[in-house]
Amino acid sequence: MTNKCSRDFQRQNTVVSVKNVRIGSSEQTFWCGPCSIESETQIEETAAFLSSWGVQILRGGAFKPRTSPYSFQGLGERGLVLLALAGEKYGMVTVSEVMDTADIPLVARYVDILQIGARNMHNFALLRKVGATGKPVVLKRGLAATIEEFLLASEYILLEENPNLILCERGIRTFEQYTRNTLDLSCVALIKKLSHLPIIADLSHSLGRTDIMLPMARAALACGVDGLMCEVHPNPAKALSDGTQSLSFEQFARFISGLLPLMHFLDAQNASQAETELALPVTI
Ligand code: PEP
Ligand code: MN
Repeated sequence: MTNKCSRDFQRQNTVVSVKNVRIGSSEQTFWCGPCSIESETQIEETAAFLSSWGVQILRGGAFKPRTSPYSFQGLGERGLVLLALAGEKYGMVTVSEVMDTADIPLVARYVDILQIGARNMHNFALLRKVGATGKPVVLKRGLAATIEEFLLASEYILLEENPNLILCERGIRTFEQYTRNTLDLSCVALIKKLSHLPIIADLSHSLGRTDIMLPMARAALACGVDGLMCEVHPNPAKALSDGTQSLSFEQFARFISGLLPLMHFLDAQNASQAETELALPVTI
């Protein structure tokens, strides 16, 4: 039997349309915002800044999967309200994690895209239930999941007749200590071949640091990602979670400016490739 996530099942790329954003099309998508929604001012200022740079997707956690139960757990529903308000004010698509099947209706009411976090990639009951909402879902790769396991997890969502699925490579756990995880770009390149689903790369959770985000983002773009996720905070030093891997506004401006030349180059390449393909005789 052919898996629904496979290119053999569907040859052309899946494009997930959310409001005016098309994920998996030729345009790049940026998924940015704080690790956690902390206050109205924090998410509002961040959305204002990011939208001024053309970022289309605003991220922010309200239910946080923290390693320690004593760490900040997120603002819950209040956080979702603040995220939705900021998204609406600046015309951005919103994304936030859902950790528990019981919270799906609540999170689905406020956000445009439901995120399944790395720690829940193997939570099949959760995968089936987010699939059944029919809403767009971004599925993160598990910390120790093989590419095959990642793809098979996506199958649980697709099986609920929900084609609005985006994959996210967010690094896997290896022996390396200088980065939080190891960004596996071979996963991106392989998934573009094996599957029709869009795939994005999360630079913050894979690297755990900001100083090599630009070269790694360039590498991810060269591997064919459909979008980049990174955490952005008005004051990373004061962030309630993941400050060390969050870009300040100034750092973000430098980051995106550094990516633009490569993005223009890749756009031109894609356009000329599309023209060549059109010029080729079609064989069935
Ligand atoms: C996140 O994106 O907020 C997050 C917790 O990421 P991950 O599940 O990849 O660790
Ligand atoms: Mn985070």
